[in-house]
Amino acid sequence: MSPFQTFAARLIRSVSLSAQTKHLEFEVAAVPRFGFVAGQWLSFKTNKPDGEEITRAYSLASPPGDDNRFALCLNRVQDGFMSNFLCDMKDGEDISCQGPFGDFILRPPMHDTVFIATGTGIAPFRSMLHWLLADPARHQDKQLCLLFGNRTEKDIYYHEEFLELASQHTNFHYLPTLSRGADDWQGLRGYVQAHMIAIIQGRTEMHAYICGLDKMIKANRELLKGLGWDRKSILYEKYD
Ligand SMILES: Cc1cc2nc3c(=O)[nH]c(=O)nc-3n(C[C@H](O)[C@H](O)[C@H](O)COP(=O)(O)OP(=O)(O)OC[C@H]3O[C@@H](n4cnc5c(N)ncnc54)[C@H](O)[C@@H]3O)c2cc1C
Repeated sequence: MSPFQTFAARLIRSVSLSAQTKHLEFEVAAVPRFGFVAGQWLSFKTNKPDGEEITRAYSLASPPGDDNRFALCLNRVQDGFMSNFLCDMKDGEDISCQGPFGDFILRPPMHDTVFIATGTGIAPFRSMLHWLLADPARHQDKQLCLLFGNRTEKDIYYHEEFLELASQHTNFHYLPTLSRGADDWQGLRGYVQAHMIAIIQGRTEMHAYICGLDKMIKANRELLKGLGWDRKSILYEKYD
């Protein structure tokens, strides 16, 4: 399927990840296999009641597979049209899409890598990490670290899934950090950038992939550049 072709995706399952966030699973009826690269996004299109056409980008949150399915992880933006439209879709309903697009994808050869996300910025990393860890040849001898920032424990999407991946792969380090963790939270606290120095330990030959809102991305890029990182080793996807 050409990325510029418009196709219909049918919602087949929807799971609430928090009060404002959903994991949505779609299938593309027109093809037996929907091909994309982990980290890419799709453009979704619909019309407002007044007829105005709206298109918005959403990262693919599932790894590429042998079937015609994909998932999204999205949160309701206050007064936003598309995010609420998608979160309100019912199983069996269709939406118009285009894609896959985007070059926020893993750059070979693989280096030791830190993945930095806040909120739904986790979506492309869920795709990349499942893809990478599914085959030892894709990640052998490389250290992979996921630094995932959220406010409170209930905002940590896919927490059990990442804990499980970390228990299965000694080279995958899962580090959720909370800015407003409860007293009994045992993990890291504070914003993601507060932990970068400890994670990279003076190294500059690693890769960093950053996804989420502009402010967080800027803070981490400046930090890494200030520590002597080459800008080509820092890849990012901005949601706003
Ligand atoms: C490449 C790319 C991939 C994306 N992937 C995802 C994804 O996987 N999951 C996801 O939830 N979102 C993702 N987004 C954001 C998404 O495209 C929309 O911007 C978002 O859902 C808001 O759309 P809306 O129509 O509901 O609101 P809009 O009407 O576009 O926005 C309403 C208001 O909210 C502000 N705003 C816009 N986006 C956000 C945001 N993300 N958080 C807080 N405030 C915002 C706007 O400045 C505006 O003031 C991605 C964006 C890009 C560019």
